[in-house]
Amino acid sequence: MTAPSHTSSYYAASANDKNIRPELTGEVTADVCVIGAGFTGLSTAIHLAESGFKVVVVEASRIGFGASGRNGGQIVHSYSRDMDFITKHYGKQTGDEMGAMAFEGGKIIRRLVKDYNIQCDLKDGGIFAACNSKQLKELEGKKALWESHGHTELEMLTESSIQQYVGTDRYSGGLLDKSGGHFHPLNLVLGEAAAFESLGGVIYEASPVTRVEEGAKAKIHSARGCVTADYVVVAGNAYLNGLIPKLEQKAMPCGTQVITTEPLSEQQQKELLPQDNCVEDCNYLLDYFRLSGDGRLIYGGGVTYGAREPSKIESLIVPKMLKTFPQLKNTRIDYAWTGNFLLTLMRLPQFGRIGTNIYYAQGYSGHGVTSSHLAGRVLSDAIQGQAERYDVFASLPQYPFPGGRAFRVPYTAIGAAYYNLRDKLGI
Ligand SMILES: Cc1cc2nc3c(=O)[nH]c(=O)nc-3n(C[C@H](O)[C@H](O)[C@H](O)COP(=O)(O)OP(=O)(O)OC[C@H]3O[C@@H](n4cnc5c(N)ncnc54)[C@H](O)[C@@H]3O)c2cc1C
Repeated sequence: MTAPSHTSSYYAASANDKNIRPELTGEVTADVCVIGAGFTGLSTAIHLAESGFKVVVVEASRIGFGASGRNGGQIVHSYSRDMDFITKHYGKQTGDEMGAMAFEGGKIIRRLVKDYNIQCDLKDGGIFAACNSKQLKELEGKKALWESHGHTELEMLTESSIQQYVGTDRYSGGLLDKSGGHFHPLNLVLGEAAAFESLGGVIYEASPVTRVEEGAKAKIHSARGCVTADYVVVAGNAYLNGLIPKLEQKAMPCGTQVITTEPLSEQQQKELLPQDNCVEDCNYLLDYFRLSGDGRLIYGGGVTYGAREPSKIESLIVPKMLKTFPQLKNTRIDYAWTGNFLLTLMRLPQFGRIGTNIYYAQGYSGHGVTSSHLAGRVLSDAIQGQAERYDVFASLPQYPFPGGRAFRVPYTAIGAAYYNLRDKLGI
């Protein structure tokens, strides 16, 4: 079998670790078997290994092959739907309990980077940019909401002050989150893999799990091996590809696309993003961008429902980039790629258990960098018998996408078209 490779991205080209781990062969036993080596899987694995558990991670392709190795690399707190929505739908107690965890994922990332000396170009500071006055007002509400849940590092930016952070006149203002930030996502996930291995953990790559057997001890099978474990954690998110249909019926893979320019001069970098912060705008179909460690602009946006590969990513994303930064008109694009995140109907993560010992966490709905790290901690605690925080997530309803798989694409694409129109009209 030829070794699988990463999608051809800027991240893959600048990865710190290009070694491939062995394929799963023969019979292996462990306390916990994690399926999927992305942020969810590795955060779970590290937290368990730090507590002395024998953990193996089985990855279909390469470490960070999925969204974790392809994303915008932005530390964005809270969930795709915020605490006001959660409180309104599920009550104050649930809103407060989710609020108490909403800023933890970023702390977990920073703790792992520090404790394991992970080289991933981590920088502080993220900006939510408002495209109109309605969005700016909503950001004021977000600031008040987050502050009411204990977050203190926020500052409103006016139409003129945001230009000290983002070199465009496109925005009506914004919200600076000093505890947001950005990093090279593939190098973070590879560093997490190395951290896990330093704790005695074992990772198998190129080993798609084809079957999960329930039982007092669960057993997972790949083409040439199997793992028997007290617990299994399913962390395949949008890349699960039919392994557990009842999980896949609850959510829909969506593609989002990213481009990377050639390295920019220091003067250009200072012009575009003088404080080297990351930025996402407040549209439903949002643009997100930042500088890489070697001074390229990484610009993402666009959503293709149903995870289709867009034939021409550049023609989709370059116009968005030029709308924000027309001065990049003659700049070369060196990389373009797509990746899948997992959308749920309520845009809230889905945590749960199949039988007594097969756990899962999925469906962060585009806001998964911090939530996936939090999920790993929460699942690890639950497996160790501290399930209070897991129970909060697991109590949120998990609806199927209406109409089954065949109807999911048109249904939500219509929704996206509506939101796109709303964004354009500023309503
Ligand atoms: C282009 C893009 C940009 C994004 N930008 C941001 C951002 O800036 N900020 C943010 O907060 N979120 C962002 N997200 C979302 C975020 O990246 C994801 O929510 C998060 O990485 C999900 O992590 P995960 O570990 O759950 O899933 P993944 O990283 O997708 O990992 C799942 C892994 O499971 C493996 N797997 C699946 N099935 C099997 C099987 N049967 N056997 C073995 N292994 C299996 C896959 O190969 C894969 O490696 C973005 C997503 C994309 C695609």
